[in-house]
Amino acid sequence: MPHTLDVRCPLCGELAFFEFAEIVRIREKKDILFFQENDQFDYLLCKDSCGHSWHAAVYYAGLHGRTVDTIRELPEGYDRLDWAHSKFLYRGSGLDSGSITCPSCCLHRRYELQWPHNAYFQIEFKRDLLWAFNLETAIELRDYIMSSNRDRSDYKWRSFLMKIPKKFLLQGARDTVSKRLKKIITQYQNGSNSSVVARANKDVGQLHSKRLSSSVVPHFKR
Ligand SMILES: [Zn+2]
Repeated sequence: MPHTLDVRCPLCGELAFFEFAEIVRIREKKDILFFQENDQFDYLLCKDSCGHSWHAAVYYAGLHGRTVDTIRELPEGYDRLDWAHSKFLYRGSGLDSGSITCPSCCLHRRYELQWPHNAYFQIEFKRDLLWAFNLETAIELRDYIMSSNRDRSDYKWRSFLMKIPKKFLLQGARDTVSKRLKKIITQYQNGSNSSVVARANKDVGQLHSKRLSSSVVPHFKR
């Protein structure tokens, strides 16, 4: 996944932004206390696949001006850039934690991503969801669905496009799927998504509304 996503706010249903947290291993035991006590980090005790414990410091750039420049101090041997997002399109960590910011209701807090439930760009087709990470990927998805040759080589997000289930790419699906994508992209660009939320609730029914009400999840314990 990319480092930032367009999501629906779990409280008001409007457009919100999610930014992943970054996790860094604490190398020396003597440094654990620093990260446990520092209000800019969350301390986390992790386990690897072999069952070995390791200590980590988690930083939520979305709660600190979307930058690592505000990290004030660090123990020797660490650099604030250790918590910067990688330069790659896709992130390497499987951590679902991050922060959510909603301009409509001012929600601004840690958030545990539930994907693709939280995706802003999601459309339903024959009871399956098709989703995109953000506006840029939604536009590429629309263009790709509409294209006749389905050549992915010129697309920035081609590895994402490669994973689209065949069902959405069939000739008979093209018109409906592309129309629904166009509609949600236009609504995003016009700054209004109220009708999209209403339609999604109707389409996905109980599952959607049940998840929506329980989707504010707390974060790591310090
Ligand atoms: Zn909101």
